[in-house]
Amino acid sequence: MADRCRQVRTGHRIGCALVLAAGALAVGCGPASQARRLDPPGGQGRFRLVVLGVAQDGGLPHLGCTREGCERARREGRRVDPASLGIVDTATGTSLLIEATPFIEAQVARLHEIAGRASHPRRPVDGLVLTHAHIGHYAGLIHCGREVAATDHLPTWVTERMAAFLRDNGPWNQLVALGQIELRTIRGGEPFEPMPGLRITPIVVPHRQEYSDTIALRVEGSERTVLFASDVDRWEGDLLERLLDGVDVAYLDGTFYDGREVPGRDLSEIPHPPIVTTMQRLAGRARDRPGSIRFLHFNHTNPLFHEPELRREVERRGFGLAVPGESLLF
Ligand SMILES: [Zn+2]
Ligand SMILES: [Zn+2]
Repeated sequence: MADRCRQVRTGHRIGCALVLAAGALAVGCGPASQARRLDPPGGQGRFRLVVLGVAQDGGLPHLGCTREGCERARREGRRVDPASLGIVDTATGTSLLIEATPFIEAQVARLHEIAGRASHPRRPVDGLVLTHAHIGHYAGLIHCGREVAATDHLPTWVTERMAAFLRDNGPWNQLVALGQIELRTIRGGEPFEPMPGLRITPIVVPHRQEYSDTIALRVEGSERTVLFASDVDRWEGDLLERLLDGVDVAYLDGTFYDGREVPGRDLSEIPHPPIVTTMQRLAGRARDRPGSIRFLHFNHTNPLFHEPELRREVERRGFGLAVPGESLLF
């Protein structure tokens, strides 16, 4: 497929202009090794972060959805996978996956393709960090089991509550019992190092908590700090400002645009802060550092999937819309 993503980078401006009509959000939009790099001028940074998916948990097309956007994606054989990030240590080749989505196989393959690392069958990545127990974020663990990869003591960083959920419920407890994953518990506010030189601080955020709590992740590389906060019910108090403190590039919850996706519902009652609200709060930051706030976790009904002019409008205001395959050194 032709490369459909034109990258814009001037000075510290980063962004990725999309030709949506051509399906730029879909998996396979251009050779994965090509451009779409949001590296800082000078290109320093020991770690490379790769965006492996940008959709909400169910992806696009979405099971049962008969809207034109989903039907068109089916006709054209396009798919947008759920939000996930890969991180590779460029010095050692060690890799870390943030979120195990149901599309983990394609996403890990993409990480290897972009970051250039051959995989060992029982260690497709060297570590895993999971933010919460909603299907788009952990259900891909099922591929670590004996029916598929039978991974070998894959280090898996999760909160205490998430660990208890995995230990106490099938089929996940079998992964623990057979040593296919090795749970390592983390706590909000306490940094950990999943690989030497990479420091991650989990931050507990408000989000529907049926089975586990939910964390956002502040990821500090050798040069810059990246935030991943894909699922938040609302920006309570100064939560947004606290999350962004000291962060260079932020991947934020972009599930819904302005509520038109869920007609008849009061905007204030919908979990996930609408993009329009987040943009209002961060207008100054986006003006000063264009492209440094990047949305992902788009619901399949989000008009940004289907309306190129709306995408351009968001980008004109200095905000970025994450695309699969974009990457940055940090
Ligand atoms: Zn989600
Ligand atoms: Zn969620």
